[in-house]
Amino acid sequence: MSFENLNLHPLIVKAIADSGYTEPTPIQAAAIPELLAGSDVMASAQTGSGKTAAFILPALQRLTEPSALKTRGPRILVLTPTRELALQVTAAADKYGKHMQRLRTVSILGGMPYPLQNKLLSQPIDILVATPGRLIDHIDRGRIDFSRLEMLVLDEADRMLDMGFIEDVEKIAAATPASRQTLLFSATLEGSIAKLAKRLLKTPKLIQIAEPRARQEHIEQRVHHVDDLAHKKRLLNHLLRDTEVNQAIVFIATKRDADSLADELHAQGHSASALHGDMGQRDRIRTLTRLRTGQLRVLVATDVAARGIDVLGITHVINYDLPKIAEDYVHRIGRTGRAGATGIAISFAGGKDTVQLRKIERFTGKSITAHVVAGFEPSRTRHAPKITYKSGSGSGGSVGNNYANDAPRRSAPSGNRVFKDDARPASRPYARDGVKTRSWSDGPERSTRSAAPSGRSGRPQAGRSTGSGRPSRFTS
Ligand code: AMP
Repeated sequence: MSFENLNLHPLIVKAIADSGYTEPTPIQAAAIPELLAGSDVMASAQTGSGKTAAFILPALQRLTEPSALKTRGPRILVLTPTRELALQVTAAADKYGKHMQRLRTVSILGGMPYPLQNKLLSQPIDILVATPGRLIDHIDRGRIDFSRLEMLVLDEADRMLDMGFIEDVEKIAAATPASRQTLLFSATLEGSIAKLAKRLLKTPKLIQIAEPRARQEHIEQRVHHVDDLAHKKRLLNHLLRDTEVNQAIVFIATKRDADSLADELHAQGHSASALHGDMGQRDRIRTLTRLRTGQLRVLVATDVAARGIDVLGITHVINYDLPKIAEDYVHRIGRTGRAGATGIAISFAGGKDTVQLRKIERFTGKSITAHVVAGFEPSRTRHAPKITYKSGSGSGGSVGNNYANDAPRRSAPSGNRVFKDDARPASRPYARDGVKTRSWSDGPERSTRSAAPSGRSGRPQAGRSTGSGRPSRFTS
């Protein structure tokens, strides 16, 4: 299958070719024809699958035809859980729509002054990308005209639900025409997502990529057992000194810890900054820009803040704290190995983390290999970790590369398996097989997703506190 076969407008196909894509990813190949045919679609697609283009390309296709109505409101509305994801969707719309005349994409995010957003909303809009909280404020003030809305996209719908946005999402959907086409993208399609879909989508086509987690085979997963905080810190400092680490995201549980760890790493000589929801939008964008442009090597981030980050240079994800929800592990490690590259995901696990580690392994269906760096062995032996020892000459991004340089040489404790860890899995951009399309009447697939917190308590990082909206680009 090629993009030419998808019957997309030549200006869109040209932009795809400019992006260097040669063939659609499985989610694109499955979803685009259904969406072009006008069906509602609910798709289980995670970041890294090419899901953004899967909905933006059909959205742009609609925009190649003029609206039947003369009103000025958005024709496409994309709701995302976070500002970062909203900005990425906006950037994708710009990228794939760059050859289209007068395309106007606007993002409306929390934290930006209302007068500016009011001005943006008063002009004609093709694509509106928004986080739910701020959009609701504008709807309540009667500032948005949805009369010509043709398509509503709920991106990372599961996350929006987790963050307590369900009422807002439903209220926004209710403010749009019933004739709209509705798309729902989510890592999982069961439980409350299925219920939401039943309420908002009309006999949707269900698209699932079989073995979704197999797509993370190009990410090597490791666990390092640690004794305590001091051990974690020493190990992190050591691992980040590996020259194989091009850029890394270090995931941490709290915003305050993100700041202090970034400060400590900075003091140790690392190029490191924090990213979390208490930062103002300008600071967040500045930090993300430094990451994207390679000026920043280590990002210390909380889950929500780092969601959707798509930076090719990220070779390593380090779970300094394990995620509370197993599914977040999948999202986290998906920040590396982007666009078919290989990546390494390292998790630190203390004694108390054993249960959570098992949950993650059950969720991903993959056991995570224990690694030990010489000189940084955990004192606990009950984990019976496998040992990675390696001479400094090998390739493959091993943490063991440092062993030859700055870790004291010790012999492997007897009884532990010694193996070389330069056998990184081959790059496997996208599974070509296993795309399943079926009608909603078949019912959603069962999944092992663990319960996630809900309610408005999860909101502070998302929409209302800080952030900015802006017109993305006025294509001439
Ligand atoms: P997403 O899942 O939307 O976050 O996309 C993941 C990455 O895949 C992004 O860097 C996209 O630019 C890239 N991508 C999207 N579609 C394709 C494609 N057909 N071929 C290669 N890369 C793609």
